Amino acid sequence: MSSITVRPTVVPGRYGSYGGRYVPESLIPACEAVAEAFSEAWADPGFRGSLAALLSAYAGRPTPLTPALRLSAELGVTVLLKREDLTHTGSHKINNVLGQALLARRMGRTRLIAETGAGMHGVATATAGALLGLPVKVFMGERDVERQAHNVFRMRLLGAEVVAVTTGSRTLKDATSEAMRHWVTDADETYYCVGSVIGPHPYPAMVREFQRVIGDEARRQCAAELPGATPDYVVACVGGGSNAAGTFAGFVETSAKLVGVEAEGGSGAANGEIGVLHGFQSLFLQDEHGQIKEAHSIAAGLDYPGVGPEHAYLRDLGRARYVTVSDGEAVAAAVRLARAEGVLPAIESAHAVAWVVRAAGTPELPSGSTVLVTLSGRGDKDITTLIAEADLA
Ligand SMILES: *Cc1c(COP(=O)(O)O)cnc(C)c1O
Repeated sequence: MSSITVRPTVVPGRYGSYGGRYVPESLIPACEAVAEAFSEAWADPGFRGSLAALLSAYAGRPTPLTPALRLSAELGVTVLLKREDLTHTGSHKINNVLGQALLARRMGRTRLIAETGAGMHGVATATAGALLGLPVKVFMGERDVERQAHNVFRMRLLGAEVVAVTTGSRTLKDATSEAMRHWVTDADETYYCVGSVIGPHPYPAMVREFQRVIGDEARRQCAAELPGATPDYVVACVGGGSNAAGTFAGFVETSAKLVGVEAEGGSGAANGEIGVLHGFQSLFLQDEHGQIKEAHSIAAGLDYPGVGPEHAYLRDLGRARYVTVSDGEAVAAAVRLARAEGVLPAIESAHAVAWVVRAAGTPELPSGSTVLVTLSGRGDKDITTLIAEADLA
């Protein structure tokens, strides 16, 4: 990887060799409109104020920073948990969808569309649409529609229309292509709400900004909590990478070591190679012919073959490192956190906890270190998986 030349980010939407805007010509104006609207809105105290008010009165922010006292004593490191699991709808995704839905309204768009794999981003978008009175259409692969009946019903409960995509492998990749096709035909009325720090410019940068509230809050909370003000390590799970990007944004200019934890079967940053998918250049798991591989993880939110372009860049710079955790380690960590702290994390978030459990007391994470761990979501959605997988002996 040292052979990749890292260029400074001079072109908007470029992170070294990564990022960009690889979309059909017909979508360039739509992306440009979102980019312009976002940079105006983000500079407007009125917009920032409306978003902050919603995050507080509706989503439950600021979320607490919880010292994990018993787990810390067991591991010999000081663990602080950033509690995105306590937000409305139970994960950090709400931070992003509220930001994008407010932006859509500001742009005069009358409809939201989104793609979803397991359904979590679809549910979040349906929630934001219901709150702001914007109709929502969610594109979902037919196979996922069958596998995720619960989330399909949740979206419909919230008033959203779920469109089953029957092309290709009938999963997330095809749902994304279909959502983009739909966007081309109706870009004047429709706003495309992307679920992570992925997609064509400006989405990776914009979603990072909407998620940086996690890192900004945690930075202030750590300053109040820790003698050294900043933690030695900042750890978050990485699917596309939005909760990690938001967390890292608060600490990238400190001396904290940044660690992104991927699922073994979805390790774009740790094991991927450069490629283009879904409108951006980044690191993706590929076969020997350069075909993007399907990801496999017990955690639906980490089941993505690539990673957001900023993470690929942080990796090349050596500013963040990316590690992997197996399904079994994540399940064990979820049970361990539940029993040590009375907090059942989402299986995605349990990956971050699992790395801390594995590394504590080794040179990777020496005894006595302070560690901030972002809990991206709560584990209620994962009970069926845990019934099948958890060993409670
Ligand atoms: C969607 C999701 C993730 C993965 O998304 P990122 O963009 O990588 O943050 C992680 N945790 C939970 C609980 C999720 O719902």
